[in-house]
Amino acid sequence: MIIVMQADATPEHLEKVIKKIEELGYTPHVIHGVERNVIGAIGDEREKARLQVIETMSGVEALVPILKPYKLASLEVKKERTVVTVRDAEIGGKELMIIAGPCSVETKEQILETARAVKAAGASIFRGGAFKPRTSPYSFQGLGEDGLKLLAAARDETGLPIITEVLNPRDLDLVARYTDIIQIGARNIQNFSLLKEVGQTAKPVLLKRGLATTLKEFLMSAEYILSEGNEEVILCERGIRTFETATRNTLDLSCIPVLKRMSHLPIVIDPSHAVGSWQYVPAMARAAVAAGADGLMIEVHPHPEEALSDGPQSLKPERFEALLKELVPFVTAAGKRMPAES
Ligand code: PEP
Ligand code: MN
Repeated sequence: MIIVMQADATPEHLEKVIKKIEELGYTPHVIHGVERNVIGAIGDEREKARLQVIETMSGVEALVPILKPYKLASLEVKKERTVVTVRDAEIGGKELMIIAGPCSVETKEQILETARAVKAAGASIFRGGAFKPRTSPYSFQGLGEDGLKLLAAARDETGLPIITEVLNPRDLDLVARYTDIIQIGARNIQNFSLLKEVGQTAKPVLLKRGLATTLKEFLMSAEYILSEGNEEVILCERGIRTFETATRNTLDLSCIPVLKRMSHLPIVIDPSHAVGSWQYVPAMARAAVAAGADGLMIEVHPHPEEALSDGPQSLKPERFEALLKELVPFVTAAGKRMPAES
């Protein structure tokens, strides 16, 4: 249920309504609007008639049922678009957010060289996996905490915030100690216990769509994080599995306009995992920006032929730099600006 407060409702009115919602066994989520505040009362759907008493309270304008199953993620509850701020970087605002870096953290030299290169090219956030979800248990699984330390060293040197994946709740405290943004990988999209745990952290979460996740399921997974009190969720499309095998996955670009009508959450496109070959990454990156993406996540490796994971889809730093230049007219046409311009 959404409780719409009157424009002239006082903080005391708001406080009383929040208390009442809690008394009734629901969780209040206050959304501070420019003109008025609204409160999402989230809880047992079957009992929602009990909330009706709130309609008579001072300062309350109306009670509006939330029709969508994803509630806090929906535009019904929050009309203003969410902007996630990470240090100096903003995701979901006017700026196009560029996240770049290697698939895996491998060595100190590899990490520092890549971080310096993507920073010089104009990226705003540095990525790298220390815990890797690999199809084969015999493939490189990541450096673990040593990898997190190397990412932190790259942040210290370049000033770029970092993002890295957490694979299971056991490692969450460790990963959250190092990273600026927590990444939930495609394979964990419905790991609900992990989603709940990251929902209890104070770090923004980049949630990747699964290989066979509908957009409704995607938002339901985001809802698990939001409902635990973490409002900073970034959605990331990284390709879905279809009958086509010429590319690693199929990039579902239509998710951008569709999700924008369903949700206020920012959307990042990862063309690298979608296409699986570096040759196709630039075209899909340009298309994603033209379609209104809030950001891009791109894999970059100084020596892709030696990469321990995802070498074939990684751009060399020079190609990455050229791509960011090619993006400029698309960014302008989409009504955004490149990070370096701000
Ligand atoms: C990654 O970002 O390196 C990754 C493993 O992505 P995904 O979860 O989308 O496969
Ligand atoms: Mn990868």
